[in-house]
Amino acid sequence: MNVSIDTSRCIGCGMCEYTAPGVFRIVGRFSTALPDPDEAQYRRARDAANGCPVNAISVKK
Ligand code: SF4
Repeated sequence: MNVSIDTSRCIGCGMCEYTAPGVFRIVGRFSTALPDPDEAQYRRARDAANGCPVNAISVKK
């Protein structure tokens, strides 16, 4: 799974970390994707991407 975050869009709201804490973590004012997220987290990561209010998350399998 490949997860990327456009930090020029991210507003640090924390929704992605709340939805998929095994994939995302807020560091400072932005979200970061944890290295090598578990494939089992794919659905949650997709949910987080869909819930991001500024469409900053890209998730590819
Ligand atoms: S949900 Fe989107 S805007 Fe909010 S912290 Fe995550 S990446 Fe940033």
